[in-house]
Amino acid sequence: MRVLIDQDKCCGAGSCVLSAPDVFDQRDEDGIVVLLNAEPPAALHEAVEEAAAICPAAAITVEQTERV
Ligand code: SF4
Repeated sequence: MRVLIDQDKCCGAGSCVLSAPDVFDQRDEDGIVVLLNAEPPAALHEAVEEAAAICPAAAITVEQTERV
């Protein structure tokens, strides 16, 4: 899994941080999303998928990468 964020779309709602705090954070100054881990481990995939699904700005994209 590879996670991409679009800081231009993000409206700082923070839902992603609540869903997956190990993967997403927010900038202190304006609340815009910060990506902490672009390739999260399998244990976090469900939370990341949920974060992408609930993001009100559709600022999170999840790419499935090949299993090795
Ligand atoms: S849920 Fe979406 S809009 Fe809200 S902080 Fe995260 S990326 Fe930004």
